[in-house]
Amino acid sequence: MGKYDRIDKFGIEKMEKAEYQKRQDYVLKKCKCPACPTYVAGDSPTGYCYPLIGTSKKIQWEKDCVCQTCAIYKEYELTHTFYCTRCSQVCQALKVEGISDQGGGG
Ligand code: SF4
Ligand code: SF4
Repeated sequence: MGKYDRIDKFGIEKMEKAEYQKRQDYVLKKCKCPACPTYVAGDSPTGYCYPLIGTSKKIQWEKDCVCQTCAIYKEYELTHTFYCTRCSQVCQALKVEGISDQGGGG
């Protein structure tokens, strides 16, 4: 059990490719981003919290983030917001928690 397991909320490290894809489809189905004020119509795929989807190519301005009202957010106990512009859950967690692991510097 490493530090990565704790921040890998979707558990993708132990997944086969098919399972990863299946969970991505599940996330996209429940994702509320298309109804969010920040979202720019036509951008896809959403589900920006999920690892490897990446940030949006179209969204530039952060208005509001409705992630905290999303079923995925609750189910996977996510802790960040604005995944579309700031990067996925694991990516933001690494930035925040990763730094504190190195003696609190930076
Ligand atoms: S938490 Fe946010 S980015 Fe992730 S699926 Fe829900 S609305 Fe989309
Ligand atoms: S990640 Fe948050 S801010 Fe970005 S589109 Fe989805 S709900 Fe809106």
